[in-house]
Amino acid sequence: MKPNITTIPITELFSETTGCPVCRMRDMLEEQYAEYVTGAAMMAPDVRVQTNRTGFCHRHFSMMVNSGPRLSNALLLQTHIDELRKKVFPKKNTDTPDKKMLAAIRENARTCYVCDRVEHDILHLLSTVYVQFGSDPDFRERYKAQDFICLEHYALLMSSVNKKAMDKKTLIEFYEATNTLSKGYADTLYDDVTHFASMYDYRNRGGDYKNSKDSIERSVSFLTSYPVDENLK
Ligand SMILES: [Zn+2]
Ligand SMILES: [Zn+2]
Repeated sequence: MKPNITTIPITELFSETTGCPVCRMRDMLEEQYAEYVTGAAMMAPDVRVQTNRTGFCHRHFSMMVNSGPRLSNALLLQTHIDELRKKVFPKKNTDTPDKKMLAAIRENARTCYVCDRVEHDILHLLSTVYVQFGSDPDFRERYKAQDFICLEHYALLMSSVNKKAMDKKTLIEFYEATNTLSKGYADTLYDDVTHFASMYDYRNRGGDYKNSKDSIERSVSFLTSYPVDENLK
């Protein structure tokens, strides 16, 4: 079945508080789409037309390969590579590729079916977040109780805010809560990495690390919206 964003429980998503709520939303959608493209979408010719054209980014290829059936991955790759090779390589082996072909390679590196769908769905889901924030005091408290909002999703929440979804006073409350969750968190991270670095000073030997031991990992999550990848060395 195609992922259905109306089944994504916004209130439930915001009942959790670990990490950035929009990252959690994205993770949920990514997982659903990675499963969908190697599952039900194999029978959906219109999706195959799109995936043949766009391909996938490294992250989403990895999710599909690690969790999807081998045969589905092989079939998706077969038709994608076939379409791509006709588009990006010259017909004759002795020819050089033209500008259009080289541009198509760059375009292919930028496009991903899952990224496109997730980005589209997040915008839809955020419109519900604004409406909930504007109409439900309980939801406003849940929103404010989040750990933090990462930098990328701070920009997204602030730039796509639907001012019609709330009255003026609530809109100011939204800006204030969102700034606290992102700017306030950046301030905390600054203090934590500063404290962590200071613990390397011999004068602080045996001192208290306080909340700073994982400040490097938390900073990377905040800045990039993804946790440190332990597989990369
Ligand atoms: Zn985020
Ligand atoms: Zn992607």
